[in-house]
Amino acid sequence: MIVVFLGTIFILAACGTNSSGKDNSDGKIQVVTTFTILEDMVNEIGGDQVEVYNLVPIGTDPHEYEPLPEDIKKASDADALFYNGLNLEGGKHGWFFKLTDSVEQDENRIFKLTDGVEPMYLTGEKGKEEEINPHAFANPNVGIKMTENARDALIKVDPEHKAEYEKNADAYLDKLKEIDQEYQDKIADIPEEDRVLVTSERAFQYLADQYGLKEGYIWAIDTEENGTPEQIKSLIHFVKGNDVPGLFVESNVDTRPMETVSKETGVEIAGTLYSDEIGKPGEEGDTYLSYLEYNINEIHDVLAK
Ligand SMILES: [Zn+2]
Repeated sequence: MIVVFLGTIFILAACGTNSSGKDNSDGKIQVVTTFTILEDMVNEIGGDQVEVYNLVPIGTDPHEYEPLPEDIKKASDADALFYNGLNLEGGKHGWFFKLTDSVEQDENRIFKLTDGVEPMYLTGEKGKEEEINPHAFANPNVGIKMTENARDALIKVDPEHKAEYEKNADAYLDKLKEIDQEYQDKIADIPEEDRVLVTSERAFQYLADQYGLKEGYIWAIDTEENGTPEQIKSLIHFVKGNDVPGLFVESNVDTRPMETVSKETGVEIAGTLYSDEIGKPGEEGDTYLSYLEYNINEIHDVLAK
């Protein structure tokens, strides 16, 4: 009897402090984002009008994720949910749509931030030619499109604060345009034959295509086999056949396969890049803008030396 009684109090108390959505948070729009880059971007554009809850934390792979009980509650209560798309969250049958389906979220509240971005495809493995590369956000030009999409989505959900979202987005877009210029200038400063970007995952395809870099990589995407002897051999062949000033590893990968490539080719691992996540708070690259700046500085430092 006592247990049942206490249980009832607990449920009542929980309802009192967690009544859904806007009421308990000074009228702020409750936004859920799938990973850290979107979390930061939406915080910048939403400013004081939004409260952002992010699903995949730093250090966890956004390609495959198991939502926690708190994630399920936030996804259910959200006024808007933002995801990358282009298969980052596993596509139509991936973890994100499983989550939004399970809480019966209204599809008009779910926004794909890469809407209008031309997909690029991972090639190389037989039968995988049609697989979309999700990592469009590593290209600042795509960041511009995603910012516009986030702004429009917030205005749709909360038209009352349209002017504020536009103002925040304009300031953010100005910075992204400056960063795009910085990418152009710094890559122009790298001798043409040295414009070769070698990383573990093929996470920089959109960036390489935008700014004219040649790509080398060990594996196409984190969700498949990473660093098999075949994959390593193939990159060693690539490095030996190209003028590669230095190798890179990403903040979220096992560095051992690249160490093998380095040993076998005599080319140093000379830089670190952020791919699927921003830096930890206080680290360089701990916002989307500084992630982009950090990456171009590393690329320039290693390839232009
Ligand atoms: Zn990735």
